[in-house]
Amino acid sequence: MLGAIEAGGTKFVLAVSDDELTIIERVSIPTTTPEETFKKVFEFFDNYKVKAIGIGSFGPIDVNTASDSYGFITSTPKTAWENTDFIGMMKERYPVPMGWTTDVNAAALGELNYGAAKGMSSCLYLTVGTGVGGGAVINGEPLEGFGHPEMGHILVRKHTTDTFDGNCPYHNDCLEGLAAGPAIEKRYNKKAQDLSDNDDVWEVEAYYLAQALMSYTLTISPEKIILGGGVMKQAQLFPLIRNQFASLLNDYVQTPDLDDYIVSPSLKDDAGITGCLILAQRAL
Ligand code: ADP
Ligand code: ZN
Repeated sequence: MLGAIEAGGTKFVLAVSDDELTIIERVSIPTTTPEETFKKVFEFFDNYKVKAIGIGSFGPIDVNTASDSYGFITSTPKTAWENTDFIGMMKERYPVPMGWTTDVNAAALGELNYGAAKGMSSCLYLTVGTGVGGGAVINGEPLEGFGHPEMGHILVRKHTTDTFDGNCPYHNDCLEGLAAGPAIEKRYNKKAQDLSDNDDVWEVEAYYLAQALMSYTLTISPEKIILGGGVMKQAQLFPLIRNQFASLLNDYVQTPDLDDYIVSPSLKDDAGITGCLILAQRAL
């Protein structure tokens, strides 16, 4: 049996599957304090004999196996979780092989193996929700360097009509500071989900996301770009993003047809947990 944890800042999804990755049981618990959350994680996995566990976590996290703080959630704005030894806590209770990467790398891995990028060797997954986070799989491997990518914090050109300063605590007007759900809410004093009918909102949003996708295309050349997260529930964003992307890129690179290149996750909300099960399988 394989175990998986998709550790998000709002909720944790826990699952166990058979060796073919067919999910046997799955639960969702709110992310509260580490003590309380781990208690529930243990209550769940204590019922099963898992031979490996895959974890895709919110971050920043330490993914460098040579580092003393490998397996830790490090400098997260969720202060209760700062310097939490995630893998250490898990290994103490379940001494089995574990896979560990970011929640978005896990989602990219899920989509590559079973979703929108099935049969390809690379893809990029970007979530636009409470924050903006991106992960990628290149040649079948989650993309990591000295650490993991933080694609949500790249710089973008301001839209000429946008007077909002941005709300990233580190950079103000980075992509996340301008385009995540809370940035939309702060700019318009209304929740993003209540602004569906305001075309200007989505034109500005698409401008920022298209710039980001162009940078990712130019730097890592993924075969597919998958956009998930709460804000992307606004389906009208997809054609707007594709149009702006085409106009910014100006045919400099021949991408796949944009309707097939910039897409939503086929696994829907299961991309992350599926990727975590694959991480478990790979850890064995
Ligand atoms: P999280 O990022 O915490 O995992 P979500 O991906 O659901 O969770 O992101 C939450 C953000 O997405 C909030 O800022 C919320 O306003 C926004 N959001 C959620 N649903 C929608 C929707 N249908 N349309 C636009 N924005 C949405
Ligand atoms: Zn930032």
